[in-house]
Amino acid sequence: MKTETSAPEDARPGSEEDQGERVFEGLGVSPGIIVGPAHLRDGGEIQVLEYRLPQAKLDAEIERFQEAVEKARRQVDNLKSKAESYHGAAAEELGYLLDAHLQMLRSNSLLGAVEQRIRREMLNAEASVMAEIGEISKNFAEMDDSYLRARAQEVREVGLRIVRNLTKTEYGGFDHLTPGSIVIAEEITPADTALMDPKLIGGFATDLGGAEGHTAIMARSLGIPAVLGVTGLFAGITTGDTVLVDGSNGRVIVNPTAKRLSDYKLRRRALERESRSLALLRDVDAATRDGEAISLQANLELPRDLVQAVAVGAQGVGLLRTEFMFMNRDDLPSEEEQYESLRTIVEGMDGHTVTIRTLDVGGEKLAPSLGNYAGNGLNPALGLRAIRLSLKEISLLETQLSAILRAGAHGPVRILLPMISSVNEVKEVKKVLGSVVRKLSDQNIKIADPVPPVGAMIEIPGAALAADALAQVADFFAIGTNDLTMYTLAIDRSEEQVAHLYNPLHPAVLRLIQFSVGAALRARIPISVCGEMAGDPRYTALLLGLGVRDLSMSATGLPRVKKRLLKIDMRAASHRAMAIMDQHDSGRIAALLDDFNESH
Ligand code: PEP
Ligand code: MG
Repeated sequence: MKTETSAPEDARPGSEEDQGERVFEGLGVSPGIIVGPAHLRDGGEIQVLEYRLPQAKLDAEIERFQEAVEKARRQVDNLKSKAESYHGAAAEELGYLLDAHLQMLRSNSLLGAVEQRIRREMLNAEASVMAEIGEISKNFAEMDDSYLRARAQEVREVGLRIVRNLTKTEYGGFDHLTPGSIVIAEEITPADTALMDPKLIGGFATDLGGAEGHTAIMARSLGIPAVLGVTGLFAGITTGDTVLVDGSNGRVIVNPTAKRLSDYKLRRRALERESRSLALLRDVDAATRDGEAISLQANLELPRDLVQAVAVGAQGVGLLRTEFMFMNRDDLPSEEEQYESLRTIVEGMDGHTVTIRTLDVGGEKLAPSLGNYAGNGLNPALGLRAIRLSLKEISLLETQLSAILRAGAHGPVRILLPMISSVNEVKEVKKVLGSVVRKLSDQNIKIADPVPPVGAMIEIPGAALAADALAQVADFFAIGTNDLTMYTLAIDRSEEQVAHLYNPLHPAVLRLIQFSVGAALRARIPISVCGEMAGDPRYTALLLGLGVRDLSMSATGLPRVKKRLLKIDMRAASHRAMAIMDQHDSGRIAALLDDFNESH
């Protein structure tokens, strides 16, 4: 995310100012400024069942407890190895804290006491942990020594981590929060963000996460200001602190001074004025200054994004991520459920085409409802995910295709396949689609007529390089610049430690985009860009210059791209894109692009 204003001179990570103000820096992934009470997401909201066990089940219960402890060790180890690469006082502090957690997870005082309680009281593991942390915290809290009193909080954090693992309810929802709360957590997953109501959550900030991961994408689509990858944040804030989240500049300010608050109030008003003026663009045609029409479509993460897509005048849905149907549940959604969800969206788009992508789980997008189907390998980003999973578990694919075909009876749809790497994958899906069409037709069930086009995501470098061959079997292309950048540069898009290396302006990424566009033009099939690049006005001129005429993005970002588009002269943009494609240094490319954006 680019910054909108320059940073104040005095802002340093963890720096102390008057009245205890502290400034943390991270990745501003979703713009906007918000101030509110901090809510530390420590899992305190977990509902723990309490029940007795027969003697014969006690050994198994202790084993279940030990597995949860082992998982907690792995989680803290993981956090610690990330913390080790950070610098500064806040990072050091975080290191000490995680060491203390690890020590507790290895020592016998807590673990031994829980095991004894399970045996002695024949009580289930989670209730035993809660009882034990309650007792230990009480003992610590009664001590005179403030250092020891502080340890009570640590025991609680460690205990709750174990309980979360035992109950497999990673974290609960956010419904009980005071409206306007700022959620502070070590990590927020894409599935967590699906539970966030923007009317209730003012903003959020986390220790972990990268700018192009799905948590960031969800935050942008919900319009919730967010800062990710903030070193030492969770350990540095207490519930009830006042927190200012500046999602535009990547700052989290704890207990801001009165001066700071009034400065930010002015900036916030300016942002509000800007969004009011952007709203006026809704009915303005999306076309360049020299009159070339550009299609601006919306990416939908959740059904509720539909409202925003319609509000900003999106000309269709260029990417419907169906993962939402599989999130936050233990079972798979039925065909009927999927059909109903899709139908609502198709009808809501009122005759505009909805591009429905088949399930793209795996990697960071793990859906518990899929059990062991996906994500067990050492490299989940390279493992059994997306189309590979759909083609292995054919019934998953058949159910989705049936639901899509039925929804397609209510308005135009297209079918988009994620993570395509070969011609055969597209052919196989088309074969399955044919058999699903026959089955539904035999049952006289109303389906899309004609059968919807089947397109391929171009998001694996191999697919871009084989785009000419893929264009012979796919009916359209959608370039996923998020994964295309990640796999081309081997940079994890959701990893804060390498976020500074993630760069869609790398010449290798641009060449793959250019090549895919060329292949689509040669085969005369439509091509769009639906990765985050499409939603950032910084890249609009470059993508148009490379021949893209169809952009799909989070609806909240669409007006800004439209505003940019109206100023672009297509010939000048093509010229600049050609000059850019002659460069081999991404710094020079960025300079050429920013210079063009400033002068056009
Ligand atoms: C992409 O990879 O660019 C894309 C649009 O898909 P997702 O972000 O859902 O992986
Ligand atoms: Mg992708």
